[in-house]
Amino acid sequence: MSYTIQISKVKESKVKDLDFNNIPLGTTFTDHMFICDYENGKWTNPRIEPLTPIPTHPASMALHYGQAIFEGMKAYKDMDSTPMLFRPEENAKRLNKSADRMGMPHVPEDLFVEGLKELVALEQNWIPPQQGSALYLRPFMYADEPFIGMRAATHYKFIIMASPAGPFFSKRIKLWAEKQFIRAAEGGTGEAKAAGNYAAAIRPTELAKAKGYDQVLWLDAAEHKYIQEVGTMNIFFKINGEFITPELDGSVLHGITRASVIQMLGAMNYIVTERKITIDEIKEASENGTLEEAFGTGTAVGIAYIKEIGLEEETIHVSDESPVGLEVNDTLNAIKTGQLEDQFNWMTRVE
Ligand code: PMP
Repeated sequence: MSYTIQISKVKESKVKDLDFNNIPLGTTFTDHMFICDYENGKWTNPRIEPLTPIPTHPASMALHYGQAIFEGMKAYKDMDSTPMLFRPEENAKRLNKSADRMGMPHVPEDLFVEGLKELVALEQNWIPPQQGSALYLRPFMYADEPFIGMRAATHYKFIIMASPAGPFFSKRIKLWAEKQFIRAAEGGTGEAKAAGNYAAAIRPTELAKAKGYDQVLWLDAAEHKYIQEVGTMNIFFKINGEFITPELDGSVLHGITRASVIQMLGAMNYIVTERKITIDEIKEASENGTLEEAFGTGTAVGIAYIKEIGLEEETIHVSDESPVGLEVNDTLNAIKTGQLEDQFNWMTRVE
């Protein structure tokens, strides 16, 4: 289906005020946003407007009961400067999976992708040209019905914002294996990209940072021994030549980078196993010298190399080098910026 998206543009773009060599993280937004309302059981009035604050009723249900979900993805430029999106239909599918869990309506996949494409086409001058930089895109949906009471809202907004992001340099990170707080439990909301999951991670992350760690390594809720994911990334370990990543058991976000890296490692002839893996297994592999490398995967940084994992009683040394992670990162970045052939058919050009 093709949608009619009304576009009203700003008189003058703010892009000229942006220093692309020094982009403040997360505080710069492009001129416009895509916005669409859900009422009477359907999405109406898809439009692109100047980005402005949106008045909210104090009883807006998202503020009280947390029906709020989001996505995160990036737009890049091809070698000929055409904007490109990385696997946008996967983000559309994941948003709808989150919507299912949180009792929210689906956004039709084609509306999601068309909205993204129109917005990116209009904001393409905001895509930073520097290697490693990109235009971060934030599609999100929230309940904006004013109502006090526990039920699914009947009014929602679906919005896409865009924010230029400077180059991310993957540094080697230290993880804190968290045994007091949990991120997700069986039957919970772990695999939904729901706002509340992130709120619940803030305090444990602050505490881990105060101890000198970069991110929290989340463990299972029942026994605190099975590894789930790290911060806002999925995690891979290379043990004795084989890659292992925690299986998608309902408590782990279905990372799009994760799925892509599994495919890439397969194409590089590595065995990749999705299974349960314990922190003790990692400790043992480190001690007997079979733990070769480990990295996190996610849209924000691509690949983040893991140096060590801290536990209450000890520190697990992971590795000082991450040669396969480095190769995967370079290949992924080259595909996203058109410097390498798109052999997996991941890129959508915005023409
Ligand atoms: N886990 C969590 C909790 C995340 O927020 C993210 C970022 N979306 C990821 C993993 C990585 O997912 P992706 O590769 O799709 O960015």
